[in-house]
Amino acid sequence: MTDYVVAPPAISAVPIKGSDKLFPVRRIFCVGRNYAEHAIEMGSDPTREPPFYFAKPADALVINDGDMPYPSMSKSLHHEMELVVAIGVGGSDISVADALKHVWGYCSGLDMTRRDIQNEAKKTGRPWDMGKGFDHSAPMGALVPAAGVDPSQGKIELKVNGKVTQTSDLSKLIWSVPEVISNLSHLVRLEPGDLIMTGTPEGVAAVVKGDVLEGFVEGVGSVKTKIL
Ligand code: MN
Repeated sequence: MTDYVVAPPAISAVPIKGSDKLFPVRRIFCVGRNYAEHAIEMGSDPTREPPFYFAKPADALVINDGDMPYPSMSKSLHHEMELVVAIGVGGSDISVADALKHVWGYCSGLDMTRRDIQNEAKKTGRPWDMGKGFDHSAPMGALVPAAGVDPSQGKIELKVNGKVTQTSDLSKLIWSVPEVISNLSHLVRLEPGDLIMTGTPEGVAAVVKGDVLEGFVEGVGSVKTKIL
């Protein structure tokens, strides 16, 4: 048995709906600007951009409807409601046609963003990590197996304190789930345990302490968190 000099990190995991088993998380990849209306609200041209990615650490997960502490060093915490893809079978250079065979399942997730830090990073050409990949920045609901989920369509919606702030449909993804998996697998070898947050529709906005966020993707399930 290996002797580590400090305790090895715990394995982050997402619960599975209706099961005691867990999905162990290796990496969390996120797609930037993948709905046209959101790209426009962020000041970009949605027609000209290939997909691009950033990442969150696996231990940024918040599960089981857990609370999310308001992050340090920010005065602008934004919600981004997203469909999350869980990779069950690894691979590189995956074709679009084969992509869905690599999916274990799907869940609803929130790409919580320190928008002020991200905007400053954009302005100065610096990395987005501290705007996106901070502690507790990835609340996620339970996973459902891929069989029976059609990721090409379905309502995606977020309510803050019971009021709808984001509403769209998966059919409006600029890069579809198979296209994202294929494209990303040409950049890195995808492995079982990888999660991909597929991008947020329009309507992103700031939240404050006490707000309750409840999102769902039709046919997939919900995610819920309260900002502390
Ligand atoms: Mn996002």
